Parts: sequence; C-alpha cells; structure tokens
Amino acid sequence: MPSVRPEQRHLSTEIPGPRSRALEERRRSVVARGVGSAVPVYAAAAGPGLLHDIDGNALIDLASGLGVTAVGNAAPQVVDAIREQAGRFTHTCVLTSPYSGYVEVCEELASLVPGAHAKRSVLLSTGAEAVENAVKVARAATGRTAIVALDHAYHGRTNLALGLTAKNAPFKQGFGPFAPDIHRIPTSYPYRDPEGMTGEQAARRALEALDRQVGGDNVAAVVVEPIQGEGGFIVPAPGFLSALQEWCLEHGALFIADEIQTGFCRTGAWFACEHEDVVPDLVITAKALAGGLPLSAVTGRAELMDAVQLGGFGGTYGGNPVACAAALAAIDVMRTHKLTERAQAIGTTLFTRLDALAGRHEAVGEVRGRGAMVGVEIVRPGSTLPDPELAQRLVKACQARGVLLLTAGTHGNVLRFLPSLVIPLPLLADAIDVLEECCAELMD
Ligand code: PLP
Repeated sequence: MPSVRPEQRHLSTEIPGPRSRALEERRRSVVARGVGSAVPVYAAAAGPGLLHDIDGNALIDLASGLGVTAVGNAAPQVVDAIREQAGRFTHTCVLTSPYSGYVEVCEELASLVPGAHAKRSVLLSTGAEAVENAVKVARAATGRTAIVALDHAYHGRTNLALGLTAKNAPFKQGFGPFAPDIHRIPTSYPYRDPEGMTGEQAARRALEALDRQVGGDNVAAVVVEPIQGEGGFIVPAPGFLSALQEWCLEHGALFIADEIQTGFCRTGAWFACEHEDVVPDLVITAKALAGGLPLSAVTGRAELMDAVQLGGFGGTYGGNPVACAAALAAIDVMRTHKLTERAQAIGTTLFTRLDALAGRHEAVGEVRGRGAMVGVEIVRPGSTLPDPELAQRLVKACQARGVLLLTAGTHGNVLRFLPSLVIPLPLLADAIDVLEECCAELMD
C-alpha cells in the first residue's frame, strides 16, 4: 500500500488485485452465496470520489455505496460527529430512554420534507424497514388494506417490501409467498411507452385498471419512487405523479413517496417530488440521510402519523444515537455546501458528455435522470431492445480501468451514475473519458 493515497484514478494491479482475490477466496467459505458484490475489490479507504482498495488501486466511485455517501465517504464533519457521539453513548434505544439527536433529526425532517403542514417522523434503520412502517401508517390511518405499487418499482428486500418490488430475479425468486393485498399498476416509462404518451395518459392507463380491479375505496396507499432507481432510473412523464396524487386525494388514499434513493439533494432538489410540485402525504427516506450510517425515516402529515397507537412503532436500533449524530452532520454539510446546486452541476456535466456519447453510438438508447442521478439505457442498435450483455461488458471494462460503475434496470441494461455530490469534477470527467474509450472499443 502506498503511504500517501493517490488523489486520482490509479491502478497498481489488475482489478481485482491479488489481495482482493485472496480475500475473495476466504469469503467463499464463510459468506453466504446470496450476498453478491458488483466489483470484488476490497475497500481500504474512501473519500469524496475515490475508493482505495487493499491492493493500492484508486477507483473513481460512481456508485457511492448505492447512493448513500452523497456528502462524500468518511466526510470529516460526519466522522467528527460520530466520534463525539460514540464517545458519550452509543445506544440506549429510544423505547427505553430518549436523547436529543432523535428529536433534532425529526425537526430537520419536518422542515426539509415538502409541504407546509405539521409533520411527524419515526426513525428506523433501513429503507425496507421504513417502507414497512409507511404501510402500517397508511393502513392505520385509512382503515383500508390495499397497497398499490408500480411496474419497475424497487422498495427493498423484507417480505412486504419484496411484495412491492417488481423485479423477480434475483430479488424475489424463491422467496414467496409475499404479503397479500398488494397491487401493481403500469408506470410512466417515456422511452418505452407509446410515442407521445403524456404523464396524464400514463396515469389514466394505470388508474383505470386500479379502479376496475381493486376499487378506489379499498386502497390505503399508492407508493411511488418519484424517479425509479433500481428499476432503471426512469423519470416519469410530467404530470404522471400529480395525476396519481389527485386520484389519491379523490379516493381517500395516501400518496407515499419513496425518496430513499432520490432524497437529500440527489436530483438537484432536496426531494425529487419538488420537481413536480407534488406534496406527498408520507415521505420515506434512508440512504444519504446519515452519511453512511444506517438510518431511515417515515415523515408525514401529523394526523396520519399519529393514527398509529402509542407503542405501535419501534425496534431496538431505530434512530440509533450515533446514526442521528451522523445525520445531523450530513444534513448540515448538504445545507452549507449547497449540495442541491452541486447535484445540478454534476447533472450538467453528465448530460453534456453522455448526450454526446448517445449521438455517436446507436447502442446508447437514452440518457435520462435528474441532477446526479443519471441512467444510460443500452439497447441493440436500431431498436429499443435491451442489451444487458453489452451493458455488463461496458461496466466490466470500466471497472478494469479503475471506474466503479454499476448497472440497474428491470432488464439490467441501464448504466447508473450515482456519484457522491462532492465528487471533484475532474474525476467525473476522467470517469466519462474512460466510458467513452470503452464504448469506442465495444460498440464500434
Ligand atoms: N426504496 C428504494 C427506492 C431504494 O432504492 C432502496 C434501496 O436501494 C430501498 C427502498 C431499500 O432500502 P434498504 O436497502 O436500505 O432496505
């Protein structure tokens, strides 16, 4: 290992290097097979834009731990806050004895989440756990049971969250039966919908089926990702989200936004719903909220959240004090470093360069997204047929050159750009140079 870590992409060995390969060998005999890793390079350290591995390689990180380290990995303010809190106490459990950090995070959520109404929050540990709790709120508040999710949705891996998640393999395969009374409706996917279909038309297509098959009066909630993440970075056509929300209002159902991936500045706004002027009844957050520590939340209209009886929420670790301290520091970084603006600047760089790439290669079907959440759909030239094999070869070629890029999408054919929001722009430019080289090599 070099004593001073490089500040640019740097390869000392092939990827993965010998130390990573040795650990991979050890892993095979003790770690369950079902735990996959997109790039088996073992981390030694990480910062705002680079991941340093145990072989001395420095990879440009376009994944930020699946969209978590928005404020940078090991962001100094977050690390200081964690140290300070851990030195005082690491855990009490809010159900036993509360602490100020829990209240302060809920105060931040009440002021940041869209809408001027009174809000309350509950803190949990993971995104899926928060999704489960949002469903509890919806059922308690409406007295109804049906929950509606979209095609291409991803809401996590617990049983109820898997029921809401659309894609079968590998997420759901062999794990059913899933929780009952979950219904799926078509989403708005402009690249694959009939040409010219508006958001309102896509919503009508979805809601007519819902009215017919479930009945509006039975629906407790419609759960949406304002930009679908795992499903392929799908941005719905304008008007789609607000039409779903209006339907919810008319039918007494809750409109729940899963902002786990899109929240906290990622899309160039604090929350992606803001781009469509939609104010959800409940907002689910996790990922970037606590700068890398496990913390999630459900934040919603006070009267809905308070429909859950005393003791109806809980869990040993939910709102852990160290995670709360990290969240307060991460939110402070987002605010003082204006990360919404930084996400817009990253988006401008990504769209300028990737649109140019699309102009050169027919296999780049579409570049879409918002801010620092951008997907590139790879297709067979001259068609819209997904090409997951080519997407995978591109990702592997980028990884071999020191760029950590992942795929997403129901068909696995979308390259996902999800860098930290403090990534130095020259690193981002270098990563795109590498992708351009790989496209030239594999597409021409
Ligand atoms: N919802 C969305 C939109 C997500 O992107 C994810 C994770 O990727 C989840 C829910 C699940 O969160 P977790 O993995 O923390 O359970």
